[in-house]
Amino acid sequence: MSKSSLAYWQEKAEKLTIEGRAYINGGYQDAAAGQTFDCISPIDGRHLVKVSACESADADNAVVAARQAFEQGKWRGLAPAKRKLVLQNFADLVEQHGEELALLETLDMGKPISDSVHVDIQGALRSLRWTAEAIDKIYDEIAPSADDELGMVTHEPVGVVAAIVPWNFPLVMACWKLAPALATGNSVILKPSEKSPLTAIKLAALATEAGIPDGVFNVLPGFGHTIGKALALHNDVDTLVFTGSTAVAKQLFVYAGQSNMKRVWTEAGGKSPNIVFADAPDLDKAAQAAAAAICFNQGEVCTAGSRLLVESSIKEEFVGKVAKAMKHWQPGNPLDPETNVGAIVDQSQQSRVLGFIEQAKSQGGSLKQGGNSVSPVENGFYIEPTMFDNIANHMDIAQQEIFGPVLSVISFDTMEEAIAIANDSEYGLAAGIWTSNLSKAHRVAKALRAGSVWVNQWDGGDMTAPFGGFKQSGNGRDKSLHAFSKYTEVKATWIKF
Ligand code: NAD
Repeated sequence: MSKSSLAYWQEKAEKLTIEGRAYINGGYQDAAAGQTFDCISPIDGRHLVKVSACESADADNAVVAARQAFEQGKWRGLAPAKRKLVLQNFADLVEQHGEELALLETLDMGKPISDSVHVDIQGALRSLRWTAEAIDKIYDEIAPSADDELGMVTHEPVGVVAAIVPWNFPLVMACWKLAPALATGNSVILKPSEKSPLTAIKLAALATEAGIPDGVFNVLPGFGHTIGKALALHNDVDTLVFTGSTAVAKQLFVYAGQSNMKRVWTEAGGKSPNIVFADAPDLDKAAQAAAAAICFNQGEVCTAGSRLLVESSIKEEFVGKVAKAMKHWQPGNPLDPETNVGAIVDQSQQSRVLGFIEQAKSQGGSLKQGGNSVSPVENGFYIEPTMFDNIANHMDIAQQEIFGPVLSVISFDTMEEAIAIANDSEYGLAAGIWTSNLSKAHRVAKALRAGSVWVNQWDGGDMTAPFGGFKQSGNGRDKSLHAFSKYTEVKATWIKF
């Protein structure tokens, strides 16, 4: 049966055995209190597996295992070149189990199987391999000092890292954290979202098989905020790294202050402006990119291009082109390799997105496209890609992160006005600029308060550059060598001769 057929993936899904237990100290185990929660597929409402609902006793067990492994030096004591080899083994195993991991991702959170295979698994592999390859090429420093002493500046692993991740790219977000955390010698406790815990749980056994010592990599699934809060308040967690909403990110700083002042690094929400000037080099290409920027992954992307700022003189023409491009993006069965828009992660998220659509209608937005829930698969949660024209930037639809396939079109007349609208947001994650004028591109890129700026493209970049936000989009950076600084403490050692 061909991998490019729905039947192939459906049959594979039927035969799949799914693990739902926590992973602590090198083995799967039930939550200490024996509690579980139901993992439901948004594709068709099917019950997938019961997942361990970890609580503070499980956090304690995992932290003890992680701390012991760290103190014993089983992992951090290895030469970086040795850790590199193990992480490369780990990546190879992820690749070998790529189809199973992709299927788990699609069943669990509803994204199209072709994205899981070609985007998520590939992104996870690239993160693991790039990071592993870097770790034995980073040097410490010698301070400029007098003849009779030596000043050494060294980087040491922080100890126990808790990583709390969201549901939209479960495996990739996990790898962006755990790859540099492990590469630098730390012990890790990964806390996946209750909406998508399955690939993280699978990953744990592969880590052990690859040679990562027991206790060094643990996975604690849980329901609601319980286990995340227990880790964030834990006095023996040294660093907390987080990707998720701005509201939860803010709460984590409070928990750190209430406990041991653990380091907190956050990657949070976005409301990214995509600015199209009348002198864009290719309006058709810009329109296709604008459609993809809101439809890819059902709009459940922190960097979704959810605010489309268009120069007034081309607005009518450009909105027509975007509407045409959006027709190419249609919800379908996520297990069908032809599908490019999958299911919304769950019913509550579907209701939330539909609520924003109703609100925009009542506040005067002109609905140009979509706006409804649809049912390509019975009992699943799907929404048509939706576009509103005539949106004012102060409206809720333009200020709040919807995290669904809903695009707001806002017009502007001058470059200064475009910059002001783009920056009028509590977020500052990403932004796009479309222009043929090099000076204008530089001017606007410099003026935008955003962690990533893309010129004449959307969603550019790879592992070689840092990714993170300005303002309330967070304070940390994932990817690139910059990510390593979150996982190390800097020590100055002065030796008098
Ligand atoms: P969320 O904030 O609701 O949850 C994120 C994680 O935090 C989950 O694992 C959740 O269980 C946990 N959590 C919830 N409450 C907690 C608490 N009180 N204490 C500790 N942990 C808690 O976010 P989400 O809905 O899973 O994901 C969507 C959000 O993630 C969006 O805002 C999106 O922009 C953001 N995101 C950001 C990036 C980035 O790199 N900046 C990337 C992907 C997603």
